[in-house]
Amino acid sequence: MRVQRGIAAAKGVAFGSAFVLGTEDFRIPTRFVVEEVVDAELERFRHAYDAITQEIADNEVLASQQLGKEYGAIFGAHLQLLRDPKLKNEIEGLIQRLYSPEHATSKILRSFAQKFENLGDKYLAERADDIYDLEKRILRHLLGANREELSQLTMPVILLASNLTPSETAHLDRSKILGFATEGGGSTSHTAILAAALGIPAVVGLGQFLSEVAGGENIIIDGNAGEVIIDPDEETLIRYRDSVEKLRTIATHLETIRDLPSETTDGVAVRLMGNIEFPEEVEQCMHHGALGVGLYRTEFLYLGQDKIPSEEDHYHAYRQVLEPYQNEPVVIRTLDLGADKLPRSIQPYAGEMANPFLGLRSLRLCLQNRPLFKIQLRALLRAGVYGDLWIMFPLVTTLHELRQAKYLLNEVMDELYEEEIPFKRNIPIGMMVEVPSAAILAAEFAREVDFFSIGTNDLIQYTLAVDRSNQTVAGLYSPVDPAVLRLIQLVVEAGRKHNVSVTVCGQMSSSPIYTPLLVGMGLRRLSVNPSSVPEIKEVIRHINVAQAEEIAQHVLANFDVARDIETYLRGELKRICPDLML
Ligand code: PEP
Ligand code: MG
Repeated sequence: MRVQRGIAAAKGVAFGSAFVLGTEDFRIPTRFVVEEVVDAELERFRHAYDAITQEIADNEVLASQQLGKEYGAIFGAHLQLLRDPKLKNEIEGLIQRLYSPEHATSKILRSFAQKFENLGDKYLAERADDIYDLEKRILRHLLGANREELSQLTMPVILLASNLTPSETAHLDRSKILGFATEGGGSTSHTAILAAALGIPAVVGLGQFLSEVAGGENIIIDGNAGEVIIDPDEETLIRYRDSVEKLRTIATHLETIRDLPSETTDGVAVRLMGNIEFPEEVEQCMHHGALGVGLYRTEFLYLGQDKIPSEEDHYHAYRQVLEPYQNEPVVIRTLDLGADKLPRSIQPYAGEMANPFLGLRSLRLCLQNRPLFKIQLRALLRAGVYGDLWIMFPLVTTLHELRQAKYLLNEVMDELYEEEIPFKRNIPIGMMVEVPSAAILAAEFAREVDFFSIGTNDLIQYTLAVDRSNQTVAGLYSPVDPAVLRLIQLVVEAGRKHNVSVTVCGQMSSSPIYTPLLVGMGLRRLSVNPSSVPEIKEVIRHINVAQAEEIAQHVLANFDVARDIETYLRGELKRICPDLML
């Protein structure tokens, strides 16, 4: 049994056998497979080998016909190598000795190439490049097919990968992927957020560990503690089954407070709303007792498919979220595409970027691609008729941007009016506060919006210069870093002074250890993962405002390091709600 520690990304525990996804950059880990899957792995290798042989034979014909025989001969040399039975037999021999096909291919072809390189003959040394080229081709085929295989799984598995993009995560089949673990990633990466939305237990940021795992091995994913257990022993399995039971009991208790008000013991209401990525999640919000939707991340409409959604696609998705709630607010955020959320359909709009999180993403991308943005704004205004819609702009950095976005919205209203298409006019307009500049100028922004929503996921990233999805700097990433808390304070004060409501919708608000602090800092609206609503409500129902304020004052006055604040808040939560934590 081996235990691998990473970052808890999506709650829950999953048991199953490993499906290891190859890395796209051809870093081939030393990987082995279990005996039961050797035949299937051999089959997979032969399929790739045959496909490559055919592909090169086709290239030979094409090059000979169009460019002449001497060019065709370049491919002929590759073919000769591939058709050498020794090469194929050696690779298959390793697979039979439990090497993964990728590992076996790489090992044999590299040793062939090195032999050529060592012959001391310039011409023969160049043949080594052909062999590396062949290796690359076969690996690309094996790994590409491996990724495709992911969408055709016949049995439920635990997915282990170097990394998963948000698009890949959005495509995961919930009935087949019991849980996943990745070498890269952070707790608030979009991949982690999606895993929680899909209800898939996940651990990220494990560092390199795929070489330790054989396809088909037994795995436990502990999305609560952030651990992956490879080949667990009997005792561990029993312990985990018990803890799953315990979690179920807590969840059943939390179900009972579903319809109770979210208010402190002295009767102060704290509105709890849900964060969603897919329209269907509105049911989860209602099921868990959320009072409206505090953040609908609409860019996931683009991530689940390869084409650009039409105005009608947007419109139907928004109606689906607005109609069930009717009288509770539904905050729909305009597109936050770009950076890590860059589906193929949007790539032409974003272009190549060296620092994508600092580049053309989110509102910036929309303002530079107005026809694309307007499709969404039209759909929003039209759907607004069906409920209490609030529109929110993401990643607002300057007042100029905010004004441009509002101007466009007015322009779209005029167009709809001209076209005699029904739409809603008096919609609250707000912005995410997730860039330090917006927090610093909160008082100025407050004069021009109806509401603020603090996006701590990005606010932390941009304040502390820590990539939210990079596990190597995850130790620096904390919602309670004093610098981040100071910015939150600025926003809350500006909101109070200008009568602008303030919500926290970053992942911070879904974590119960921060609830007393946030309430104590003056927040009365939190938007959280739908499944976290009961837990956060339980904390709120156990504190009074004076107590929460005391905690906040203590944090702000006595600590200057995030880690000490985390420890203090953990202790306070244990005191307030002893049964909440396992
Ligand atoms: C945030 O940045 O806190 C936020 C809620 O937005 P996202 O996680 O979608 O970037
Ligand atoms: Mg954000």
